[in-house]
Amino acid sequence: MQPATAKPPLTILLAGPRGFCAGVDRAIQIVERALERFGRPVFVRHEIVHNRFVVESLEAKGAVFVDELDEVPDDRPVVFSAHGVPKSVPAEAGRRELLYVDATCPLVSKVHRESERHHAAGRTVILIGHRGHPEVIGTMGQLPPGKVVLVEDVAQAETLTVADPENLAYATQTTLSVDDTTGIVAALRRRFPSIQGPKVEDICYATTNRQAAVKAIAARCDALVVIGAPNSSNSMRLVEVARNYGCPRATLLRRASEIDWGWLDGVSRLGVTAGASAPEALVDELIAACRARYDVTIEEARVTEEDTVFKLPRALVA
Ligand code: SF4
Repeated sequence: MQPATAKPPLTILLAGPRGFCAGVDRAIQIVERALERFGRPVFVRHEIVHNRFVVESLEAKGAVFVDELDEVPDDRPVVFSAHGVPKSVPAEAGRRELLYVDATCPLVSKVHRESERHHAAGRTVILIGHRGHPEVIGTMGQLPPGKVVLVEDVAQAETLTVADPENLAYATQTTLSVDDTTGIVAALRRRFPSIQGPKVEDICYATTNRQAAVKAIAARCDALVVIGAPNSSNSMRLVEVARNYGCPRATLLRRASEIDWGWLDGVSRLGVTAGASAPEALVDELIAACRARYDVTIEEARVTEEDTVFKLPRALVA
């Protein structure tokens, strides 16, 4: 017979890979190195990555987050976020002779260069992505206004009209749902057979791996928590993937303090993952909160190992 105080059992299926990707890690290091090198304050245009915990810890070290360059004084350095910026932003920083460091993820920069290459070859670029996301604004801003057409879903791909259907290319936001994007690309290829696209999908390794890890555990979970931010595209996609792959009770939490414990009633197997901009400390915090109420067993379910590391900009390592 169990003692009256015994905690109920809870198995946590920990998806792997999860959490920080190489692009987020690099962007945070860029702000930290800039603070060491230039002193405080260092200005950062937009959230460096989509996570309040990260932003607040950098603020505590002397970073100041702003929406636009006109909030940056002439004599202080500014860092551009990992999501990338339209060409007009470094151009304006150059005009003002600001000291700037670009923390755009190299995998986003790769999409920028592809789009420029297609434009130079006379192709209209169709960008698959979410309207208003900073990465989409940055990628569209690599080309002159009107030269990138945004497509958000299969319905738009099916009804899109273009002036020259023989001269088209597509690129994608890096943090989309792999499955949704496959459907959109298939519709574009069927309607425009000569459309050019990337040899390897623009959806990045980190997004792909985190979605694969959730697919591997979703059907075995009674509920699943994604640690991440509502404005983080890759985190929101993980919630959708969990729901689509057998775990309808999936939710996003910024951190453990947001959990509604009643939501876990009847749950004996809880899946846990984290978006690419969420630090592992927040996963640890959730597990600790669960341990306070449950007799927790951890099962790690890792689908692949990651060893991608991106170099820091030369200006910060010399
Ligand atoms: S999610 Fe992918 S594209 Fe975005 S910063 Fe991470 S590695 Fe780069």
